Parts: sequence; structure tokens; C-alpha cells
Amino acid sequence: QGVLYIVATPIGNLADITLRAIETLKTVDIIYAEDTRHSKPLLQHYDIKNKMYSLHEHNEIAQTENIINQLKEGKNIALISDAGTPLISDPGMPLVEAVKKQDIKVEPIPGACAAITALSASGVLGDKFLFAGFIPAKKEARQQFLQQYLHQPTLTIFYESPHRIIDSLTQMLTVYGESRRLVFARELTKQFETIKTASIKEIYDFVVSDPNQKKGEMVLILDKSVAQKIDDIQAINMLKILCSEMPISQACKLAAKLTNIKKNQLYQLALEHGL
Ligand code: SAM
Repeated sequence: QGVLYIVATPIGNLADITLRAIETLKTVDIIYAEDTRHSKPLLQHYDIKNKMYSLHEHNEIAQTENIINQLKEGKNIALISDAGTPLISDPGMPLVEAVKKQDIKVEPIPGACAAITALSASGVLGDKFLFAGFIPAKKEARQQFLQQYLHQPTLTIFYESPHRIIDSLTQMLTVYGESRRLVFARELTKQFETIKTASIKEIYDFVVSDPNQKKGEMVLILDKSVAQKIDDIQAINMLKILCSEMPISQACKLAAKLTNIKKNQLYQLALEHGL
């Protein structure tokens, strides 16, 4: 049986590739790439003359069967994506799962990853983080998605695309408030690299005021929440006390400021408990 190698490639600077990755890409029988046109310059740069086929989210299931057959025939195969580590917000998960189920060896060839690269130079506090991946494109889904990390006690790493960065920062301002710290890491390892750690409001102003900052690839890292997550029981107890002293809408407004829970949510909670 052959081996499936999961090979990390650069996220910008072509020199960010390991010797082992180059050696593997030269010696395997076949390379599967997310976009063969995109990976061609990289292979040319390192004089890798191997056969390359595509494996992307739309043909992954069909290609998986071919790849398993090729591995069973004893062929060694490398999987690469457009940038960084395959499977990290990139295709490859169903393939690796299926190959492992067949007891065929999957070997990682580690290297660049945008999330880890951003984290390593961000200067944020704390060594625990959660990788949240891409922020959804649609406003409502994005709101719900961001809301999940409001009380996250670790750093949260997001991937974002340039044409949605302003919408996401605007929504982050409403969900997380102005002062929570954020890392804005853009065009990592490339000529116009930016790594800025500041409050969400400062990052928003920085990006809005400079058209260049809206271009390229981006990672955002949200600082951990310092506020303790308040559960429904604590919120109801607080509302009970406040409602005994003032009208319900005023009580909800005050409780929202104290708890960081949305006023409408508290209002709903108050009504459900007959306050
Ligand atoms: N597999 C890749 C990795 O290991 O990081 C990520 C692939 S994902 C499809 C592409 C996203 O990663 C971009 O939209 C951006 O959020 C982030 N990214 C990739 N390269 C980057 C770079 N040079 N600078 C900043 N972010 C980058």
C-alpha cells in the first residue's frame, strides 16, 4: 500500500516550505492539488515535475475513490491546498477520513498555517485558543456565529476575506463592544504584511481609513472574554430584583448593561418568568 502525505505549502512567501515537503512532492507518484493552476508556479519554482490532479470541495467525494484505489495499488500520493496546511479551512477532511478507515497510512508533512502564523506574532495574552475558521457571509448567520464567542474564555481565531472585512468588523463592534482587543493580521509573509493588535474600534477605524487594509488575506484573533458568563438563572434573579424597583423595560436595559446579554433576550426571559 502507498502512503497519503498531507503536505503544507507556503501562505505567501514561496520560501516558507520545508525541505521534507519539497522532497515529498518530488518523490510521490501523484500530487492532488486544490487548484492545479494555482499550485503550478510553486511546483515550477522548486523544479517539481510530478503529475498533478485536482481535488477540491466539488469533486472530493468522487476523487476519494480513485485515490484509495491508487493507494491500494501501492502509489504514494501527496495532497496540497492553495495555501498552508490542507484540511485547515481547506479540502481533504473526507479523503483523510476515508483513507484512514481503509487502514492506509496518512502522514503529515507540517509547515505554514495562517492561524498559527498570525498567533505567533500577535503579542496577545494567553496560550489557549479556539480556531473558529471562516466567518459566515450572510448577516444573520454571521451574527449568530459571532455571538457564540462573546464569552469565550480563550482567544478565538477567525479567517476572513477582504470583501467582507468591514461588515464583520462592524458586526464585531455591536456583538463584542468597542474595547475588546483584536488582532488584525493581513497578507502574512508577503510584501505588505500588517499585524496590528488594538481595540476592535481602533482596528475598525484603521481598516476603514486605509483602502489598502481592505485588500488581501486576513486573520482576526479575538481576545478572550474577561466577563464571566452569566447563566439564565442568574439573569432571572437579577431581573426579579430590578423589576421590583422599576418598569420591566428599564430593568432589562440595565440588566443588559450589567450582563452583556442582549436587551431583547432579557425581555423574553422576563416575560417567560411572568415578571
Ligand atoms: N489552509 C490554510 C492555512 O493553513 O492557513 C488556510 C486556507 S483558507 C481557504 C484561506 C484563508 O486563510 C484566507 O481567507 C485567510 O483568512 C487565511 N490566510 C491564508 N493565507 C494568509 C495570509 N498570507 N495572510 C493572512 N491570512 C491568510
